[in-house]
Amino acid sequence: KPIITLNGVTKTYGNGTTALRDVDLAIGQSEFVSLLGPSGCGKSTLLRLIAGLGEISAGRIDWPQTAHTARGEPEHDIGFVFQEPTLMPWATVFDNVYLPLKLKRMSRRQAAPIIRDALTKVGLENFGKAYPRELSGGMKMRVSIARGLITRPSVLLMDEPFAALDEITRFRLNDDLLAMWAGQHWTVIFVTHSVYESVYLSDRIVVMGARPGRVTADIRIDEPYPRS
Ligand code: ADP
Ligand code: ADP
Repeated sequence: KPIITLNGVTKTYGNGTTALRDVDLAIGQSEFVSLLGPSGCGKSTLLRLIAGLGEISAGRIDWPQTAHTARGEPEHDIGFVFQEPTLMPWATVFDNVYLPLKLKRMSRRQAAPIIRDALTKVGLENFGKAYPRELSGGMKMRVSIARGLITRPSVLLMDEPFAALDEITRFRLNDDLLAMWAGQHWTVIFVTHSVYESVYLSDRIVVMGARPGRVTADIRIDEPYPRS
């Protein structure tokens, strides 16, 4: 049973731009899916709709395994990592990573060991007290990833997370991400326009573009890059 299904999803923005046309897609539990395609083909739009941000113009997105609230909204837990690390500049690394737990009303004291563990996973165990301006671009991205994963979401959505980084940092983060992913059971949907990245990271590549707003290929990688 898939974790997310899209049936005939179409998105037309207020200005008349159709960003997605009749997209059908089923995402399996624990899949690491790359969404690959040129700028403007609708990747971010697809990710945002999956996250529940914005209205769908036609079609539907369902979470067949997920319980729903009384208002019919899925009670899924998703983490979202954006291209620009959107850290709060006035808050320490610790407090930036704490935010999603704080929103779930967890006390700082209860959260502290979880945050320390997350910072260790991204190699920033000694930077809890640092402020974002003291960190390099790659380190800020590591903080964003730690924050995206802190609630142990069942689905992690990543929108071109490494696009603004130099290639060496990017390769390192690809490896870090795989190391964090190994042994976990999250589903990852990873937007990229790097063919290398998609092949290196994923066990499935969904290609968009050519005809804008449509899925043009759906490739399964039988023997993905070893992850543990
Ligand atoms: P990608 O992530 O692949 O670059 P996007 O989903 O950002 O693609 O954009 C798909 C299309 O929708 C583009 O033509 C873009 O200009 C348009 N678009 C994206 N967001 C908006 C918006 N808020 N309002 C109007 N058009 C938009
Ligand atoms: P080749 O030209 O021999 O195929 P590359 O130049 O593509 O090798 O890659 C060199 C090294 O960088 C390899 O160890 C490869 O695993 C690694 N690498 C390539 N692309 C990526 C990527 N997107 N993320 C992480 N590592 C990568």
